[in-house]
Amino acid sequence: MSDSPGKNASNHPPAASDVLEKTTHFSQYSLQDFVDCPRRYDLRHRRKLQWPAVQSLPVLEQEERMARGEQFHRLVQQHLSGIPVEKIEARIHDPILLAWWGNFTEYDPLALLPPRRLAEYALSAPFLGYRLLAKYDLLAIAPGETAHIMDWKTAELRPRGEILRAKVQSRLYPFLLALGGERLFGGTAPKPEQIRMTYWFAAFPEAPEEIGYSKTQFNRDRDYLAALIEDIFARSAADDFPPTDNLKRCDYCQYRSYCERGVEAGAIEEVDDESLLEQDPGFTIDFEQIGEIAF
Ligand code: SF4
Repeated sequence: MSDSPGKNASNHPPAASDVLEKTTHFSQYSLQDFVDCPRRYDLRHRRKLQWPAVQSLPVLEQEERMARGEQFHRLVQQHLSGIPVEKIEARIHDPILLAWWGNFTEYDPLALLPPRRLAEYALSAPFLGYRLLAKYDLLAIAPGETAHIMDWKTAELRPRGEILRAKVQSRLYPFLLALGGERLFGGTAPKPEQIRMTYWFAAFPEAPEEIGYSKTQFNRDRDYLAALIEDIFARSAADDFPPTDNLKRCDYCQYRSYCERGVEAGAIEEVDDESLLEQDPGFTIDFEQIGEIAF
């Protein structure tokens, strides 16, 4: 399928001189885009260029996968709000979603978690004069004791542990909780050693990825995130955001025709790294809606 700009798309992003450096916050999505391709960060987060294109083929299958993943997150949220398992199950008609839900109820990833459960929880904290922002699928907390981050993954692949651990999400989420989670944790932010993070895979319930945390890793993540943000602003000043050398990323990127890196979307069955298809959900930053903000 060819990509072409729709009626709401601009053929040209704002000139560098017109780009106001209004960035006030960084999320896993904007930082991961910068890591994956500085040019994509520039186009998507700095210049806000809308460039409609399918990410992968076939289109319908990609849309179904995305919708199914969102539904699974909603089902877990409903369950956490008190709706009985059977009632939720009775409403599921998609066989894959039903299988995921069966895995969830059978393996019960909530079983050993601390008692205070906060689903779809947004947290923000200041960092280097800006704000870091994360929206957690689930925070399970025993104030003063432990804080457990759960993240639901609905890809058909189970990424290798080293790939997951290298993602910005794996570094930002525990770091931000240790940086700004004091109101959640009884007045003092959790120590890094009190934080754990689990990626739980709906299609691979027997193989969650467990990530511990430590003061050493906290310091590494602080330096890593600081270096990323400093690099972004140095590149902004020079207007220097080069394209990635990894052409495979371009196959699954909405800007590939804009960047003249092909018009055909990559095939979804050839994706061997789910991060190629991850999309910024685009949740708007409404600080009134963020329950706990560390100032
Ligand atoms: S098409 Fe390739 S170079 Fe262009 S923004 Fe996307 S990943 Fe970067």
